[in-house]
Amino acid sequence: MSKSKLEYIWLDGYTPTQSLRSKTKIMKDFSGKLEDCPDWSFDGSSTLQAEGGSSDCILKPVFICKDPEIKNGYLVMTEVLNADGTPHSTNGRATIDDEDDDFWFGFEQEYFLMDLETNLPLGFPAGGYPAPQGPYYCGVGGQNAYGRAFKDEHLDICLEAGLNVEGTNGEVAAGQWEWQIFAKGSKRAGDEIWVGRYLMERLTEKYGLYIEYHPKPLGQTDWNGSGMHANFSNEYIRTAGSQEKIEAVCEAFRSVVDEHIEVYGAYNDQRLTGLHETASINDFSYGVSDRGASIRIPIYTVTHGWSGYLEDRRPASNADPYKVAARIVKTVKAVTG
Ligand code: ADP
Ligand code: MN
Ligand code: MN
Ligand code: MN
Repeated sequence: MSKSKLEYIWLDGYTPTQSLRSKTKIMKDFSGKLEDCPDWSFDGSSTLQAEGGSSDCILKPVFICKDPEIKNGYLVMTEVLNADGTPHSTNGRATIDDEDDDFWFGFEQEYFLMDLETNLPLGFPAGGYPAPQGPYYCGVGGQNAYGRAFKDEHLDICLEAGLNVEGTNGEVAAGQWEWQIFAKGSKRAGDEIWVGRYLMERLTEKYGLYIEYHPKPLGQTDWNGSGMHANFSNEYIRTAGSQEKIEAVCEAFRSVVDEHIEVYGAYNDQRLTGLHETASINDFSYGVSDRGASIRIPIYTVTHGWSGYLEDRRPASNADPYKVAARIVKTVKAVTG
């Protein structure tokens, strides 16, 4: 008889930004398959998801992968349900309307790597600043790249778990990095981002670090903020074959700016200033290769005969990929059916 350790992961009820929670379930002779993961429950009164007198919330497994760091371990992403089986109000995943996995998403997760003792990004000296931005983006060398070993260890763990990380890079600010996840299916993309975030959070525990997801942690200085660009396509966009069709999809976003910004992460107004490769939160724009636009039409899409994908550059690093995907799917479907 073997005993497996299943780490059930969920999102709590904290506002304005939900946090990750998890607990471990021991299973005998576990198959490793999602359908063999039972529903479980937790004390919702400890996570701002229920009252003490009626505290049970349900964890419904929706995604499973190996846990490379734990012997006989698995990571099980779950949705939170109310005791009656309906989706909990904190459950963004349940709001995604993409049952046929028509949508593909590539999320670019940017973050600052922080020192737990100084509360400063790696590379930042106490009481001051490192050299100005310029050499850090995709940089190499002890004065340009801070925390690469951590970034690479996280990448190795994610790949071993089977997450579809497509790449990583050093970002524009010192101590700032990025990793990208691509998945066919909006729910799957969100699942993989959240499990990747979980693995990163857990890794920080080992090194006295933490992840700063605030989209503008250094305030209104000349230091970049962090985003989570959402690259997306559906069959319609992948086979559009015309500038008019692609631009019609972009135009559909214009009248629902507020609805999108609503789920693109807290404090995003501090980041979307119109500077540092962002568009102003008050404007809506799109353009080919334009990194100062709300939505960038990648050159790939143009050179492939106006078929491909689009990049919404507005989602912040602290956004919930489930809610971002749900909103993008809704807006795109209004045009493409
Ligand atoms: P950049 O930093 O130039 O914006 P990245 O390479 O970091 O670009 O991210 C681009 C993302 O776009 C990748 O995650 C990639 O998987 C994703 N992507 C590529 N093609 C598609 C597509 N057809 N649909 C959705 N996402 C896509
Ligand atoms: Mn990128
Ligand atoms: Mn980036
Ligand atoms: Mn991008």
